[in-house]
Amino acid sequence: MNKNIGKNLPKSVVFTIAIIVSVAAFVGIATFFMMHVYSQLTSVTEEYVEDITGKKTVYVNDLIQQDFNLMEKLADSLNDYQKKDSDYLHEALERIIDINGFLNFAVIKPDGTIISHHGPSANVSNREYFTVSIQGEKFFSVPIYSNSDQTMVNVISVPIYNGEEIVGVVSGLRSVTYYTDEVNLAVRGKVNNANGYIINSSGEIIISGEDVLPDNVISPDTDSFFDSAFMTAAGSKEISRITAEFSKKESHGTIKANINNNVYIAHYTTLSAKDDLHYVIIYDESAVFSDLFGYMGSNIIMYVFFIGVIIVMVLAYFFTMRKNIRSLSNANEIMSKIAYEDRITGYNTYSKFEEEANELMKRGYARYCFVSFDIDKFKTINDMFGHEEGNRVLKVVAETINRNMQDRETFARVNSDNFFMLLAYQDEADITDRIKKIISAISYEFTDFVPVLSFGIYKVIDKNMSIMRMGDCADVARRTVKYTEESSYAFYTAGMMDIIREEKAIENEMQDALDSNEFSVYLQPKFSLSGPARLTGAEALVRWVRKGSIVPPGMFIPIFEKNRFIIKLDYYILDQVCMRIKKWESEGISDILVSVNMSRVHLRDPEFVDKLHNICRSHAVSPNMIEIEITESAAYDSMDVLIDVVRDLKARGFHISIDDFGSGYSSLNMLKDLPVDVLKIDRVFLTETNNKRANEIIGHVIKMARALGMETICEGIETDEQAQLLRSLGCDMAQGFFFARPMPCDDFERVIESSRKSGKA
Ligand code: C2E
Ligand code: MG
Ligand code: MG
Repeated sequence: MNKNIGKNLPKSVVFTIAIIVSVAAFVGIATFFMMHVYSQLTSVTEEYVEDITGKKTVYVNDLIQQDFNLMEKLADSLNDYQKKDSDYLHEALERIIDINGFLNFAVIKPDGTIISHHGPSANVSNREYFTVSIQGEKFFSVPIYSNSDQTMVNVISVPIYNGEEIVGVVSGLRSVTYYTDEVNLAVRGKVNNANGYIINSSGEIIISGEDVLPDNVISPDTDSFFDSAFMTAAGSKEISRITAEFSKKESHGTIKANINNNVYIAHYTTLSAKDDLHYVIIYDESAVFSDLFGYMGSNIIMYVFFIGVIIVMVLAYFFTMRKNIRSLSNANEIMSKIAYEDRITGYNTYSKFEEEANELMKRGYARYCFVSFDIDKFKTINDMFGHEEGNRVLKVVAETINRNMQDRETFARVNSDNFFMLLAYQDEADITDRIKKIISAISYEFTDFVPVLSFGIYKVIDKNMSIMRMGDCADVARRTVKYTEESSYAFYTAGMMDIIREEKAIENEMQDALDSNEFSVYLQPKFSLSGPARLTGAEALVRWVRKGSIVPPGMFIPIFEKNRFIIKLDYYILDQVCMRIKKWESEGISDILVSVNMSRVHLRDPEFVDKLHNICRSHAVSPNMIEIEITESAAYDSMDVLIDVVRDLKARGFHISIDDFGSGYSSLNMLKDLPVDVLKIDRVFLTETNNKRANEIIGHVIKMARALGMETICEGIETDEQAQLLRSLGCDMAQGFFFARPMPCDDFERVIESSRKSGKA
């Protein structure tokens, strides 16, 4: 059974591993899929952002480039402005203003005086745009206040060349709102989540888009981008990196800053229109990725949900599995107890014994003998002293055997009172010593009665023979020692197997034998002991004439009792006897009482008495011509049933005798409730005729029977001496070889005849 647990566990472990691997694979794949989707979406979003910012940068660059182009073209057209009068210049500039939406243009002389514009003349020699451009550089200014336009403007200035010589500067004013509109960036149509800036290499914010980012990112008052909250949050390393980046002629990159758990990202690109200007777009990552996050959010919820469901399923599976495994192992434990532990003795069952015996013989080099033993008439012990006592006897026997076991030996109670032992031995003397030792150890345990044990010993020759077959051989040997008075043993011999074969053959043939009248009735005369021996009746004893020779009942009756064929046979014998009695009646013989043996097996049939009665009726034979012999041992099955049956039989008119009285564990006590006519004293008492005590017992039994109104008959009288003894003890009748052997009915009729003659004589 433990093997089963062993088999079950690995299976469930394999299954569990398979579940874990599948779940892990599922979680792995789901996670990979999630990550993949996330990275795909991220890169798509990033591409989208790059696309937008790239296009926007190009656009802004183009815008500024156009302005510079325009200014340069203007400067070109004014290379000889010194030769023109101021009205002409004024008019020319006014015309361009209308076309390009500039607020104003001015031509500035190298000394800083504005010679043509629509506002009041002024000197701008200290303005940065002038100082830079007069040096030959184009310039784009931070927003400054224009006195003439009374608004904040960006000034764009370029030098005016006349050949190689710088002869002045031309400046154009753009209202700051012009650029703020253009550099602005609103991501996904939302405001205040992104903005664009044009910043110069020193970090000054030249143009700021109109979508103002929160103050904690970049405030409108911030003069330098490097001082902005955004850059501060990005860190000093980033500030220095970007400072260096901005000083390059061409740069492009990203800056990230985490502000209050909100990530802001800036993309910067140096404008090709003017390499100290950089277009910077700053946006709130969550705004840009909001759809992605939304999408991923629902994905994650789904993912978490599925993982949750799987975890719940796996947990449920594990709990059920654990419960199942527990109840399985409990069941296995109980089963293995049932299978391996004998409930009465607490020692091995046959299954366990079989396993151990096989194991021992496989491993050991010792010689082994297989011993089968049982307790004679154990059923009687059970019936007379109760089942508890019976069980106690089995337990004491098992414990004693256990104490007498040596290393590499085993034993078990096989069934009822039958035990098997596997003993190691050196030589035959060894075995008999062990058996004798066990017999005396068991006797030592009992005081009230000593169980009589029969041992059958099979010396194992072939260790590969099945345990069952070894058991059969030992059983065969054991059966040959049955019904002795003391515990004894027999070794198995090859011839014993023939007995088993013979038993099988008997079973196969019995029905045919009955149908073809192979069973016949022998009669053994019974004689009265009072006065000269007088024929009083006979006992019907079955004989099987099989293949020309007579088989004694001892060979087949025990088999028929086991397979219940005895029921048919007994009715057949009664039938034959009735026929004989009927015949005698017709011959005027009516004083011979014939006893018929009825097996104890009948007592289980509630219609038994009716059936007997019917047989007699069918031959018109009165039951009082018949005596029914029931063995003493029938009392062990159920005393109550026996009493009922005996009373019923008596009521129908049958005579009744208790057969084999004294052969078992029965007592005189049982007789007082049984209304029997005759007590048949078993011949075991006669085997000890010289034993004074045995004689006293017979005398006592006879007296007791008489006191109860019963007659006594002693069976098995073989000598005159025995006959004399019984007569002297007051026994009423005798039956035995000394008087006559069982004989065919025809022979018996001659005995009747001669007895009549001698009676008459
Ligand atoms: P039982 O009923 O006790 O029958 C007496 C047995 O003792 C007979 O054995 C008989 O042959 C034998 N016997 C008689 N006188 C002597 C003697 O002086 N010395 C010795 N050693 N034996 C003697 P048998 O015929 O072999 O029958 C054996 C048992 O088989 C019977 O014992 C009875 O229990 C049973 N039996 C016989 N015929 C029938 C039957 O028709 N039905 C049933 N149910 N049992 C039967
Ligand atoms: Mg008998
Ligand atoms: Mg008898």
